[in-house]
Amino acid sequence: MTRMKPLLERNEQFARTYTPVPLGLPAAQMLVVTCLDHRVDPAIVLGLQLGEAPVIRNAGGRVTQAVIDDIAFLAFLAGQLFGRQGPADTLFEVAVVHHTQCGTGFLADPDFRRQAAEATGVPEATLETSAVADPHLTVKTDVERLLASPLLSPKVSVSGHVYDIATGRVTTTLDARYP
Ligand SMILES: [Zn+2]
Repeated sequence: MTRMKPLLERNEQFARTYTPVPLGLPAAQMLVVTCLDHRVDPAIVLGLQLGEAPVIRNAGGRVTQAVIDDIAFLAFLAGQLFGRQGPADTLFEVAVVHHTQCGTGFLADPDFRRQAAEATGVPEATLETSAVADPHLTVKTDVERLLASPLLSPKVSVSGHVYDIATGRVTTTLDARYP
């Protein structure tokens, strides 16, 4: 038994009018890093279409080492496959999008964090670094972290944004910058 049945029916509808998108640079020249929260789907919130932008999602939309590694690989891949087609100085912009009412916000509370660490086996320090209590602050921290990484390609820029769950609006906190 699987609860996928109704979703597979939706997929059947989707596949009926589907046109495959060839592998290429993201058409929007964007890559989005955001929270895995099911209220924060960038395809819907930002109207992203297939082939427009890769999306990396984790708890909080935090710029972890794993996220930095993925971005470094995607920049390498884009440069290798398509570097000669686009302007020599740019590959894509990374938009870090944090949001209000993030479930990771509870992890800012030491008691909650200790209980979560005991129950899950995830180290308290790891949980602490994923907490988004104030998205305006954490998005700045994460944009700076990515810009400071020696793994970030000089052809990739980084910007920071906050999605407000209450209004549906995304506002820009930090304009795009190159490392
Ligand atoms: Zn979240």
